[in-house]
Amino acid sequence: MSLVKYKQKRNFSSTPEPGALSGKGDRKKLIFVVQRHKATSLHYDFRLEWDGVLKSWAVPKGPSMNPADKRLAMMVEDHPLDYAGFKGVIPEGNYGAGIVEIWDNGWFEPTIEVVKGKPVSKSWGAGLKRGSLKFTLHGKKLKGEFALVKIKTTPNSWLLIKHKDKYAVEDAYDSEKLTPAGSPINKLLKKK
Ligand code: MN
Repeated sequence: MSLVKYKQKRNFSSTPEPGALSGKGDRKKLIFVVQRHKATSLHYDFRLEWDGVLKSWAVPKGPSMNPADKRLAMMVEDHPLDYAGFKGVIPEGNYGAGIVEIWDNGWFEPTIEVVKGKPVSKSWGAGLKRGSLKFTLHGKKLKGEFALVKIKTTPNSWLLIKHKDKYAVEDAYDSEKLTPAGSPINKLLKKK
Protein backbone atom coordinates (compact mmCIF):
# COMPACT_ATOMS: atom_id res chain seq x y z
CA MET A 1 0.00 0.00 0.00
CA SER A 2 1.36 3.39 -0.78
CA LEU A 3 0.29 6.95 -1.09
CA VAL A 4 2.37 7.71 -4.18
CA LYS A 5 -0.67 8.49 -6.35
CA TYR A 6 -2.32 10.49 -3.59
CA LYS A 7 0.81 12.64 -3.21
CA GLN A 8 1.38 13.02 -6.95
CA LYS A 9 -2.06 14.56 -7.38
CA ARG A 10 -1.67 17.16 -4.67
CA ASN A 11 0.42 20.19 -3.80
CA PHE A 12 0.45 20.35 -0.01
CA SER A 13 1.56 23.95 0.12
CA SER A 14 -1.72 24.81 -1.60
CA THR A 15 -4.35 22.38 -0.23
CA PRO A 16 -5.30 21.91 3.43
CA GLU A 17 -5.66 18.14 2.92
CA PRO A 18 -3.39 15.94 5.08
CA GLY A 19 -0.10 15.09 3.41
CA ALA A 20 1.77 12.60 5.54
CA LEU A 21 1.12 9.02 6.42
CA SER A 22 0.14 8.92 10.06
CA GLY A 23 0.26 6.10 12.54
CA LYS A 24 -2.68 4.17 13.81
CA GLY A 25 -1.76 4.84 17.44
CA ASP A 26 -3.17 2.33 19.87
CA ARG A 27 -6.60 2.32 18.24
CA LYS A 28 -7.85 -1.23 17.71
CA LYS A 29 -10.98 -0.68 15.64
CA LEU A 30 -10.80 -0.12 11.89
CA ILE A 31 -12.35 3.18 10.86
CA PHE A 32 -14.55 4.15 7.96
CA VAL A 33 -15.69 7.54 6.72
CA VAL A 34 -18.07 8.79 4.07
CA GLN A 35 -17.27 12.28 2.83
CA ARG A 36 -19.64 14.35 0.74
CA HIS A 37 -17.57 16.16 -1.83
CA LYS A 38 -18.69 18.98 -4.10
CA ALA A 39 -15.99 19.09 -6.74
CA THR A 40 -16.69 19.30 -10.49
CA SER A 41 -19.63 17.09 -9.61
CA LEU A 42 -21.23 16.24 -6.29
CA HIS A 43 -20.31 12.76 -5.07
CA TYR A 44 -19.57 10.79 -1.95
CA ASP A 45 -16.21 9.31 -1.04
CA PHE A 46 -16.44 6.01 0.78
CA ARG A 47 -13.27 5.05 2.67
CA LEU A 48 -12.34 1.93 4.65
CA GLU A 49 -9.17 1.60 6.70
CA TRP A 50 -6.94 -1.25 5.60
CA ASP A 51 -3.21 -1.83 5.96
CA GLY A 52 -2.46 1.66 7.25
CA VAL A 53 -4.32 3.62 4.58
CA LEU A 54 -7.89 4.44 3.60
CA LYS A 55 -9.01 2.34 0.63
CA SER A 56 -11.26 4.74 -1.28
CA TRP A 57 -14.18 4.67 -3.67
CA ALA A 58 -16.08 7.60 -5.21
CA VAL A 59 -19.82 6.92 -5.10
CA PRO A 60 -21.71 9.31 -7.42
CA LYS A 61 -25.17 8.67 -5.94
CA GLY A 62 -24.05 8.15 -2.37
CA PRO A 63 -24.53 5.04 -0.26
CA SER A 64 -27.92 3.44 0.34
CA MET A 65 -29.47 1.47 3.19
CA ASN A 66 -31.87 -0.18 0.69
CA PRO A 67 -30.58 -3.59 -0.50
CA ALA A 68 -32.34 -3.09 -3.84
CA ASP A 69 -29.84 -0.33 -4.71
CA LYS A 70 -26.51 -1.18 -6.27
CA ARG A 71 -24.49 2.00 -6.06
CA LEU A 72 -21.63 2.45 -8.50
CA ALA A 73 -18.37 2.96 -6.59
CA MET A 74 -15.27 3.92 -8.55
CA MET A 75 -12.08 2.87 -6.80
CA VAL A 76 -9.67 5.79 -6.46
CA GLU A 77 -6.23 6.22 -4.93
CA ASP A 78 -5.50 5.26 -1.32
CA HIS A 79 -5.75 8.15 1.12
CA PRO A 80 -3.85 8.67 4.40
CA LEU A 81 -5.64 7.69 7.62
CA ASP A 82 -5.74 11.35 8.69
CA TYR A 83 -8.00 12.06 5.75
CA ALA A 84 -10.86 10.51 7.74
CA GLY A 85 -11.01 13.72 9.78
CA PHE A 86 -10.73 16.09 6.84
CA LYS A 87 -13.47 18.55 5.99
CA GLY A 88 -13.15 21.97 4.46
CA VAL A 89 -12.37 23.79 1.28
CA ILE A 90 -9.91 22.53 -1.32
CA PRO A 91 -8.89 25.75 -3.09
CA GLU A 92 -9.38 26.26 -6.80
CA GLY A 93 -6.59 24.96 -8.98
CA ASN A 94 -6.05 21.95 -6.73
CA TYR A 95 -7.02 18.35 -7.41
CA GLY A 96 -10.62 17.83 -6.25
CA ALA A 97 -11.12 21.56 -5.69
CA GLY A 98 -14.37 22.27 -3.89
CA ILE A 99 -15.89 21.45 -0.49
CA VAL A 100 -15.57 18.30 1.59
CA GLU A 101 -17.99 17.44 4.41
CA ILE A 102 -18.09 14.40 6.65
CA TRP A 103 -21.43 12.69 5.97
CA ASP A 104 -20.92 9.64 8.19
CA ASN A 105 -18.15 7.89 10.06
CA GLY A 106 -17.51 5.17 12.58
CA TRP A 107 -15.81 1.79 12.62
CA PHE A 108 -16.21 -1.42 10.72
CA GLU A 109 -15.69 -5.14 11.05
CA PRO A 110 -14.21 -6.96 8.06
CA THR A 111 -15.95 -10.25 7.28
CA ILE A 112 -14.03 -13.06 5.63
CA GLU A 113 -16.38 -14.85 3.27
CA VAL A 114 -17.03 -18.53 3.86
CA VAL A 115 -17.91 -20.79 0.93
CA LYS A 116 -18.92 -24.41 1.61
CA GLY A 117 -17.67 -24.11 5.16
CA LYS A 118 -14.25 -22.77 4.19
CA PRO A 119 -12.95 -19.20 4.37
CA VAL A 120 -12.19 -17.98 0.84
CA SER A 121 -8.94 -16.34 1.97
CA LYS A 122 -6.81 -15.88 5.05
CA SER A 123 -6.89 -12.11 4.87
CA TRP A 124 -9.82 -9.78 4.31
CA GLY A 125 -7.49 -7.64 2.18
CA ALA A 126 -7.24 -10.43 -0.39
CA GLY A 127 -10.80 -9.44 -1.33
CA LEU A 128 -9.40 -6.22 -2.77
CA LYS A 129 -7.67 -8.26 -5.48
CA ARG A 130 -10.50 -10.76 -5.79
CA GLY A 131 -13.02 -7.94 -6.13
CA SER A 132 -15.27 -8.90 -3.26
CA LEU A 133 -15.37 -7.33 0.21
CA LYS A 134 -17.90 -7.91 2.97
CA PHE A 135 -18.03 -5.84 6.12
CA THR A 136 -20.26 -4.57 8.90
CA LEU A 137 -20.45 -0.81 9.38
CA HIS A 138 -21.00 0.84 12.75
CA GLY A 139 -21.74 4.41 11.71
CA LYS A 140 -24.35 6.97 12.65
CA LYS A 141 -26.22 6.60 9.35
CA LEU A 142 -24.75 3.48 7.80
CA LYS A 143 -25.22 0.36 9.89
CA GLY A 144 -25.04 -3.37 9.38
CA GLU A 145 -23.72 -5.58 6.62
CA PHE A 146 -22.53 -4.29 3.27
CA ALA A 147 -20.61 -5.60 0.30
CA LEU A 148 -18.37 -4.03 -2.29
CA VAL A 149 -18.26 -6.15 -5.43
CA LYS A 150 -16.07 -5.44 -8.41
CA ILE A 151 -17.61 -5.24 -11.87
CA LYS A 152 -15.18 -7.49 -13.70
CA THR A 153 -15.67 -5.94 -17.11
CA THR A 154 -14.80 -2.35 -16.17
CA PRO A 155 -11.56 -1.17 -14.53
CA ASN A 156 -11.96 0.30 -11.03
CA SER A 157 -15.75 -0.09 -11.04
CA TRP A 158 -17.35 -1.67 -8.00
CA LEU A 159 -20.87 -1.82 -6.62
CA LEU A 160 -21.70 -0.86 -3.02
CA ILE A 161 -24.61 -2.96 -1.81
CA LYS A 162 -26.47 -3.11 1.49
CA HIS A 163 -27.27 -6.62 2.69
CA LYS A 164 -30.65 -7.53 4.10
CA ASP A 165 -30.53 -7.29 7.88
CA LYS A 166 -32.37 -5.51 10.68
CA TYR A 167 -30.94 -2.13 9.60
CA ALA A 168 -31.91 -2.41 5.91
CA VAL A 169 -34.74 -0.18 4.66
CA GLU A 170 -37.34 -0.89 1.98
CA ASP A 171 -38.26 2.71 1.18
CA ALA A 172 -36.32 4.78 -1.33
CA TYR A 173 -33.08 5.98 0.24
CA ASP A 174 -31.56 9.32 -0.70
CA SER A 175 -28.35 10.31 1.08
CA GLU A 176 -28.94 13.93 -0.03
CA LYS A 177 -31.96 14.09 2.28
CA LEU A 178 -29.74 13.24 5.24
CA THR A 179 -27.33 16.14 4.97
CA PRO A 180 -27.32 18.62 7.86
CA ALA A 181 -29.18 21.89 7.30
CA GLY A 182 -26.72 24.72 6.84
CA SER A 183 -23.99 22.50 5.42
CA PRO A 184 -21.48 24.54 3.38
CA ILE A 185 -22.23 22.42 0.31
CA ASN A 186 -25.99 22.93 0.70
CA LYS A 187 -25.38 26.68 0.99
CA LEU A 188 -23.37 26.58 -2.21
CA LEU A 189 -26.10 24.57 -3.91
CA LYS A 190 -28.79 26.72 -2.20
CA LYS A 191 -30.52 23.65 -0.80
CA LYS A 192 -32.56 23.74 2.43
MN1 MN B 1 -13.94 13.07 -3.94
